Parts: sequence; structure tokens; C-alpha cells
Amino acid sequence: MVNKLTVAIDGYSSCGKSTIAKALAKHARSTYVDTGAMYRAIGLYTLRHQLTEPADIIAALPNIQIGFVQVSVPSADGEPATSAQHVTLNGEDVEAFIRTLEVGNRASEISQIREVRAFLVAQQQLMGEHGVVMDGRDIGTVVFPNAPLKLFLTARPEIRAQRRFDELIAKGEHPVFEDVLADVNDRDYRDTHRAESPLRQAEDAIVVDNSDLTPDQQMRIIIDLYDRKLASLKQ
Ligand code: C5P
Repeated sequence: MVNKLTVAIDGYSSCGKSTIAKALAKHARSTYVDTGAMYRAIGLYTLRHQLTEPADIIAALPNIQIGFVQVSVPSADGEPATSAQHVTLNGEDVEAFIRTLEVGNRASEISQIREVRAFLVAQQQLMGEHGVVMDGRDIGTVVFPNAPLKLFLTARPEIRAQRRFDELIAKGEHPVFEDVLADVNDRDYRDTHRAESPLRQAEDAIVVDNSDLTPDQQMRIIIDLYDRKLASLKQ
């Protein structure tokens, strides 16, 4: 009997995929997998080791181990601690280093290399054997083409740039809005125009444009889609 669905969530950068994916995974009692973090971890490795040539990056892949750990995050005001997922690079928790513009851009560059994609897709497919909520750019098209529920999230570029800008400010960085917007547009262009597994909507994906939705409204729509799909498969 089906009691958990594998959910593929794709979409442009900074359109809130991870927030939705995490909340949906909690609702479904499934595991959440942030594939962007895996590309970012490889991006960080290549920055640390000053690898820029694709051949050198491909040669380094056997030395790169990506994993995830659950860490407990203390909450303020005596609330119970919550749990967060952090990505590891060769056993080191690198979550604190991977969310910068520099690493995001490097992730977008190295994600164009076919061997890098094959290396990560194989690992992602193993994680999905028992039903996960996974977000990225190629989940519904390449990683899980048979996923019973595929979502394609989108929002206007200015709105996504504003969200990323706010995140960077909250982290103590000093971004310039126009740079963040240019970065969002560049990344969209690279992600949709690369030769290897470009970002595109799977034919059977449901599109959710969240430009004018509150997080709660979007969450309700997506949980409803999930519950209905699960119910239809149980019949
Ligand atoms: O989602 P996030 O912004 O963390 O992803 C960083 C970069 O990794 C993206 O811009 C994209 O180029 C790449 N990526 C990818 N395929 C995925 C996930 C991320 O190519 N499944």
C-alpha cells in the first residue's frame, strides 16, 4: 500500500523550493533532500582546491564525499530545539560556507559538467528508493522521471532577487540589489541553457507561481496536491 510519495520539486533559483520542500517532507514524514546543497558542496571543494578546469574537477570527483547530517538547532525563549539538515563535504559540516553568492555561482558553473551531474544523480537516485521530497533543477526530468508528484515552482525574477537580498542581509552580508538581480538572471540563463540536463518543466509537472502567494497560501496548495495524489493512489 502506498503511504509515501516521491516528490520532485524543480524551479528557478530563490523561488522558495527548499522552504516548501522541507515543510512538505515534514507533512509527509518523508526525508528532504536539497540537491542544490550537493552542487554547492562540490563548488566549495573546487574553490578551496583552486580547481577551475573541467578535467581537473572530474579527476577530483573520487576524492569528494557528499553527505547529510541532522543537527539540533537551539530555539530562543525555551522553545524545544528544532532539527536542521546540513550538508557534509568529506565528513565536514560545510553548511556555514555554501550559501554565499560566490559558492552559488561556482555551483552553477560546475553543474554544467556532465560527469559532475552523473556523479550526483546516481547518489540522489539511491536516496529516493523509499520516497523522499527532493528539490533541484532536474529532479522531475532526470533523477525521478517517474515520480508520482512533480512540482515546478516559479516566481518573477525581481521577487526572487528581493528574497535572496533579504536572506543575504539577514546573514550580515552587504549585497547591492542590482547585483543580486543580475545574478538571479544570469543563473536562470545558465540553468536553462546548459547542454547537460537544462532546467525545464517536466511535461507532467504542476506549475506553482508563488510571486503573489504568502508562504502559508502556497503551503496549503501544495499539501492539498500531495494529499489528493496520495489518496488517488490508495484507491
Ligand atoms: O538550488 P541552489 O541555488 O542551491 O543550487 C545551486 C546551483 O546548483 C544552481 O544554480 C544550479 O546550477 C545547480 N543545481 C543543478 N541541479 C540541481 C540542483 C542545483 O544544476 N538538481
